[in-house]
Amino acid sequence: MEFGDDIEQTPKGKFHCKLCDVNVPNKASLEDHLKGRKHQKLSSVRDTRRAQETKSVFVSGFMRETSQLQLADYFQQFGPVAEVIMDKEKGVYAFVEFSETKGLQSALSHPHHSLEGQKLRVKPRERKEFRYIPKKKQDPKNSLLSLEDLSQELCQAASVNEQMQRVVESFQLSESEKKVRALLVELLQEVFTEFFPECQIVPFGSSVNTFDIHCCDLDLFLDLENTKTFQARAKSCSEQQTGECHSEDARSEDSILSDIDLSTASPAEVLDLVAAVLRKCVPGVHKVQALSSARLPVVKFSHRELGLQGDITINNRLAVRNTRFLQLCSRLDMRVRPLVYAIRYWAKQKQLAGNPFGGGPLMNNYALTLLVIFFLQNRDPPVVPAVDQLKELACEEEECVIEGWDCTFPSQPIAVPPSRNTEDLCTLLAGFFSFYAQFDFAGSVISLREGRALPITSFLSKDQGEEGEQDKARDPAPKTPRLGPVNVLDPFELSHNVAGNLNERTQKNLRRECEEAAKYCRSLQYQRKSAKGKAWGLVRLFVPCGSSAHGPPGAAERHLVIGIPFRAAVLPDAVRHQLHSAGDLFRQLWFEKVSHAVVTVFRDVLKCSVEPAGSPRKAGHTGQSSGKDAGLLGCCSSSSGLAGKIAFAVGQTAITGGDGDENRKSIHEENNNCDVDTSLSESGKEHRPLNSDQGGVKRALPSGDDMTMSPSSKKQRLDSSDKSATACWHCLLWHRVWAARRKVRRDLLKSLPAASRPEGGSVELETQVTECIAQEQPTAEKLLEFSLEAEVLGGTENTQTVLKFTPGDDQAGLFQDFFHFLESFLPKMTEKLLEKLE
Ligand code: ATP
Ligand code: MG
Repeated sequence: MEFGDDIEQTPKGKFHCKLCDVNVPNKASLEDHLKGRKHQKLSSVRDTRRAQETKSVFVSGFMRETSQLQLADYFQQFGPVAEVIMDKEKGVYAFVEFSETKGLQSALSHPHHSLEGQKLRVKPRERKEFRYIPKKKQDPKNSLLSLEDLSQELCQAASVNEQMQRVVESFQLSESEKKVRALLVELLQEVFTEFFPECQIVPFGSSVNTFDIHCCDLDLFLDLENTKTFQARAKSCSEQQTGECHSEDARSEDSILSDIDLSTASPAEVLDLVAAVLRKCVPGVHKVQALSSARLPVVKFSHRELGLQGDITINNRLAVRNTRFLQLCSRLDMRVRPLVYAIRYWAKQKQLAGNPFGGGPLMNNYALTLLVIFFLQNRDPPVVPAVDQLKELACEEEECVIEGWDCTFPSQPIAVPPSRNTEDLCTLLAGFFSFYAQFDFAGSVISLREGRALPITSFLSKDQGEEGEQDKARDPAPKTPRLGPVNVLDPFELSHNVAGNLNERTQKNLRRECEEAAKYCRSLQYQRKSAKGKAWGLVRLFVPCGSSAHGPPGAAERHLVIGIPFRAAVLPDAVRHQLHSAGDLFRQLWFEKVSHAVVTVFRDVLKCSVEPAGSPRKAGHTGQSSGKDAGLLGCCSSSSGLAGKIAFAVGQTAITGGDGDENRKSIHEENNNCDVDTSLSESGKEHRPLNSDQGGVKRALPSGDDMTMSPSSKKQRLDSSDKSATACWHCLLWHRVWAARRKVRRDLLKSLPAASRPEGGSVELETQVTECIAQEQPTAEKLLEFSLEAEVLGGTENTQTVLKFTPGDDQAGLFQDFFHFLESFLPKMTEKLLEKLE
């Protein structure tokens, strides 16, 4: 290589220096870089390190109290010792560097080493690739321990249980930090009382709920229940007291500071007053910002000297109450706190949680803590009771209703009988990961209220659900939670999904990280302290995502598989209603609809030929269904049988209050519609005729003694074996439908008059695009052949339809390109079709 091993050329013709981890745009800059100070310095450090490595031995087995001097003395007999470096954990291992390689060889060839009666292990020092790790700038005030320091601290512990206690000790606010926060609250109380007589500043969030960490924000609720007016006059007296006015916008003060009747002021106006008081009258406060349009309007501020950030909300009584709830849970059982700390830190390291503003696709710490509590409610025996059970243990004075929501629970832990669960922290943490690695996020709603996962079907019908009934008259706002990839009901505000901001990707990451962690927790490295001074226990769990120990997501097991997740939000009301009525069988019903949509995408939109096929796995040929009834969906696990089961379930539940028979009829109709739709799509005109009368082939459902299925595939099955659904097709592709698609689309849209242009991204548009491509590429030969297996998962997996592709003969190597295109196109188009179901 022209510039040596440190330099690699990027595909775009730029250069990357691996040693310094920088990109350089061209050769001239690269030459400068190589001569520059940073590169030269790192090269020389690396050379020294390499020279040291060739002359050093790794020594372990000595007593904890052994000093560097004792080791140097001992090894002098083999040759002059240049340096002894003890590991930071002290006493577990050391590197002994000789001045010459002769000393090293002599030490290594010596058969036995012992010091003070202890047998020493002496090995050549491992050569590690030199890596430059830039030191991050840290705010000495208020900063968390670096991972490196934390790891050292944790490696010294004797057990995972002790490590978890140490995490708490390392992160929690010190007494002096707490005192300072309390003083700030006192100061704010004093200042605000001047302007808002009788007001109360109530801290909540992590500084109160016992899950505080050094840099946590200070969440405050300004309770104005007893405050009638804002007293502008007080400003002058406050100024006299403090002797100065910290005015960032002194010019605007007259416009804001006049007496105001709070009963007529809007929340935005009150927030502006709060912001003005903070800016002008609280020493040390800066960066004040009123966010009136947030879900919970808030004034954010920072305190210069204390180096902390704060939030003041004015309409947040529920948060104060849920803070008390978390505090109670923490006080109920000593294991809750260390568990929450460890999981919060793990989630932060894995970039799953902890975004400061609660928006965006990451989970906030509150939602994550609820996941921990829910897990503890589901241990056997439970560590924490369900909220409904706690309510039963409360006395009359503890009854509490906020905004129509029942927030009753005992104020003291003594009112709750202690848990009979005796698991240790190490087991519970491992349990947390396996619990959520197998959790059907898409198909369930987590209810801490009931302490169990509720089926998502209970929330698919808008006018259903007891939470919908509550307080309906008073508040016309929708009372059903916004469903998403993760659904965690707030324990009190039952219409609020606290994880509603998460997207599909965050949910997948959460699952994947839980799976990884669960796997690691089964290893000895997790459970036992390393005698060799290696990272063990929590330390490996806290490795940040994206570091080298962590492969790219799913890289190892990348198959030709596309998942269509269950997303209630995209389904039309009528379909949600049907799924709701189907109860436990909703997955199969949904699967039929997805299968139908997938076939429509291949056949109608991409102009493929699609035929039902026997399952390449265990093929139980159950014969052909007749005519249309079988259709393409005939290959799903006996759709008629399923419809019958669903109809039965509907008849059984009949919760919509409608006639069971009517429901039965509508579902039959819907199934028939699917098949009728399929036949409509078969009018694929100039495309290869499709044999719609091909019989369906059903894959045999696994029976109790069917041992041909692997344990892992068994795990993925739905709870009861007769609920699984699969389908198989054989497909032929005739055109390069993926090539230049964007250009064809653009040209097509340009050529059409505005009035007849199909909507962007619509099925109609994409169908026309394929037609244009097909006209350009007339072919008598099939381009590709592949089989497609579909299966619905759920129960101990996320509810989703998994589509597995097996290419046939592909000498031209086209399938990868086609598949790559399908990965984004197929889920999008399928969803478009599902949105339009009637
Ligand atoms: P940290 O500040 O360390 O991230 P925290 O528990 O204080 O943790 P915040 O995001 O600051 O979390 O939220 C403060 C409090 O507001 C929470 O403890 C909780 O009481 C309430 N809260 C936060 N998010 C929600 C939510 N989505 N739904 C209901 N209450 C919430
Ligand atoms: Mg907070």
